[in-house]
Amino acid sequence: MSELIEKLNAAHQLTDDELLRFFAEEQPEDELFAAADAERRKYYGDAVYLRGLIEFTNYCKNNCYYCGIRAGNPHAERYRLTDAQILACCVEGYGLGYRTFVLQGGEDPYYTDDKICALISAIAAQHPDCRITLSIGEKSRESYQRYYEAGARRYLLRHETADPAHYRMLHPESMSLENRKRCLYDLKEIGYQTGSGFMIGAPYQTHAHLVQDIRFLQALEPDMIGVGPYITHSETPFSEMPSGDVRFGLKVIALLRLLFPSALIPATTAFGSLHPRGRELALQAGANVVMPNLSPVRVRKLYDLYENKICVGEEATQCKGCLEQRVKAAGYRIVTSPGDRAVPGSNSLREPAAELTQ
Ligand code: SAH
Repeated sequence: MSELIEKLNAAHQLTDDELLRFFAEEQPEDELFAAADAERRKYYGDAVYLRGLIEFTNYCKNNCYYCGIRAGNPHAERYRLTDAQILACCVEGYGLGYRTFVLQGGEDPYYTDDKICALISAIAAQHPDCRITLSIGEKSRESYQRYYEAGARRYLLRHETADPAHYRMLHPESMSLENRKRCLYDLKEIGYQTGSGFMIGAPYQTHAHLVQDIRFLQALEPDMIGVGPYITHSETPFSEMPSGDVRFGLKVIALLRLLFPSALIPATTAFGSLHPRGRELALQAGANVVMPNLSPVRVRKLYDLYENKICVGEEATQCKGCLEQRVKAAGYRIVTSPGDRAVPGSNSLREPAAELTQ
């Protein structure tokens, strides 16, 4: 076995120099993915967890240079879902077996804290056995606290890049890495299960930046690590920048699995958008979550973060069937209902916390 993979397997850690070598040198992919898969199976067996994604608004006050729904894109056709539409998505998702709903959107000032809290309460009242996840960007600690009290328990907020100078190249002056980190630590302190992450192959990203991303994640200890290749969008200042590389992205997924053995790692839509079997390959490289789209088909194309996004034409039922097939073909098993145990009861296997896997 290659020396770096052996060390990752034994110690789940690499020095900065070793990480740089890992990124720069060709790794034996079969060995790397097999090691990552074995590690994921120790914790999670062949289980793949579902998170139903509801993209409820594409209005955004921010102007992230990489993102297609940035405020500065006048060609983005904007939409908001009503509470009734969002609740209907949850009802449909519940029927399909989803027990976690992820409400994601741009930073849309229309949704005041009162509105978000009312929405959370309504979903929690209708689906007391479900987990509510928010992914609505940077807010004050007080806002995060209010959402928690209303019933939200998980929050996804990628740090995007842990290098302040790189952060500045990807975002306008009005945003700062400092505030994004503050948000993540507030969320953790309040008690949220927190997800963070970054894009792979983002414009100007270097291997040294990725080392910093990993060190930041090791300090934060998030429950979920979401990464996916950067994908160019023509209506952004980065329209000339190339998309990230899927093979390199898979290498990063495997590395994350070996560095964070018990983390939830989604096989993100961005992988599937750049490669027809991108999500399956991500699962085989160590990912263990998929996030099927529950948004009404009418608006899916409009949540246009990047070009050629997949799953924009299917109904939720079709989406689930398609993903189920893909997960099975990749050699894994979708777990939907909370009663379904992730790992068969064997003392040699560590049971993942039920709280995380539902
Ligand atoms: N407004 C929320 C949700 C952002 S969308 C927030 O700020 O957290 C979710 C993620 O999509 C982002 O965190 C970013 O990492 C990713 N994303 C945005 N534009 C992208 C692009 N062009 N290619 C790939 N991923 C992108």
